[in-house]
Amino acid sequence: MMERLWIPSHQTLGGRMLPFLRHYCVFGSHHPLTWSGLQTTERKHNQNGGWIAQCAASGNGPSVSDINGAQKDFALPDSLLCNARILYCASPAMGHNKESHPESNKRVPAIVDALEKLELTPKHRGSQVLEIQNFHPASLDDVARVHSRKYITGLEKAMSRASDEGLIFIEGTGPTYATQTTFQESLLAAGAGITLVDSVVAASKLGPSPPLGFALVRPPGHHAVPEGPMGFCVFGNIAVAARYAQHQHGLKRVMIIDFDVHHGNGTCDAFYDDPDIFFLSTHQLGSYPGTGKMNLIGQGSSEGTTLNLPLPGGSGDYSMRCAFDEVIAPSAQRFKPDIILVSAGYDAHALDPLAGLQFTTGTYYTLASSIKQLAGDLCGGRCVFFLEGGYNLQSLSSSVADTFRAFLDEPSLAAQFDNPAMLYEEPTRRVKEAIEKVRHLHSL
Ligand SMILES: [Zn+2]
Repeated sequence: MMERLWIPSHQTLGGRMLPFLRHYCVFGSHHPLTWSGLQTTERKHNQNGGWIAQCAASGNGPSVSDINGAQKDFALPDSLLCNARILYCASPAMGHNKESHPESNKRVPAIVDALEKLELTPKHRGSQVLEIQNFHPASLDDVARVHSRKYITGLEKAMSRASDEGLIFIEGTGPTYATQTTFQESLLAAGAGITLVDSVVAASKLGPSPPLGFALVRPPGHHAVPEGPMGFCVFGNIAVAARYAQHQHGLKRVMIIDFDVHHGNGTCDAFYDDPDIFFLSTHQLGSYPGTGKMNLIGQGSSEGTTLNLPLPGGSGDYSMRCAFDEVIAPSAQRFKPDIILVSAGYDAHALDPLAGLQFTTGTYYTLASSIKQLAGDLCGGRCVFFLEGGYNLQSLSSSVADTFRAFLDEPSLAAQFDNPAMLYEEPTRRVKEAIEKVRHLHSL
């Protein structure tokens, strides 16, 4: 029986869309193996011959950049998954861009450059760090598990107007723009998350310490609501992946940790009445979009599976450590997730221009390390990070790099990047009060 354990076929989209979306390639050029070569190699490593044939027939599929920059099409063989510590996909959406907009197409390349400079890429790390390339976009059905068909088809149709006008604004969405490539590139961002869920789940069946996944994608997703885009976000990448993990892999209980400085209102809305998805957001009190009040805790049978912890302006490393130890960890331990997905926004950094928290590179290192530990303790290590915000290219890229270092259990290099002199005193009393209040509300 054909088993599509790793990568869905996306028959309606894959063939048409991939040639366009393949223009950006981080490492080297494509050197796909021949079909006969793949048959021999892959079948030796796994039982999924059926789907390999399917991918081969379409001529499209994921490939991996390994130690030599050489690429193997379609699959990550078990032998690669066994050795990997980090899997990532980069989807920079080069066509989805507006001049002077903070959510720019420079963001993902800046991260990739930093990873390269800091020797955290496959070129430097061999089989420890793998980039999956040529992954499929999400299918319309994948996206429709979160968003309304009306919105999805409406956005697709709007692409012709964007094509005529170059750039359009989607009304009532808290300035979310679209270009003629937005629809396809947003599907690709969601597809990266799905691909990483597939690979991390597959690896978790091979051993107790699967690699962590990181979807270096844009446009971001956590503000996009079921009925439309919002706040620079088009499709809820993490929400789509959460539904996919349940639907495709039978991972019933999904925990989403959102440490972006803004409330992940789109993700929150999508799962507000779902007891099997625990959405936990830390965000700056009073920041965009103004949602995420502490007393919103889910409804009906899902009461308690939404947790909002608004932090007062100025909260930083100490505040987040307390929040993790006293709120995030006990919530996760009680919920007992099957997989942890993370909305990793880097806009709570002290240098970020869009908000007023005081996280540092070191804060992100600690967070990544602690979340990795939680996933190892609670859900077989299954964990995928999704890039959300982060608009200072320097702090964004150094913080993602330190996140990678935490995934590898290597010491932080935050001291090279952080300048303690720029920080001011955290509002610790108000933070403690907020934590106490949320612990009381959730009986933690
Ligand atoms: Zn944000």
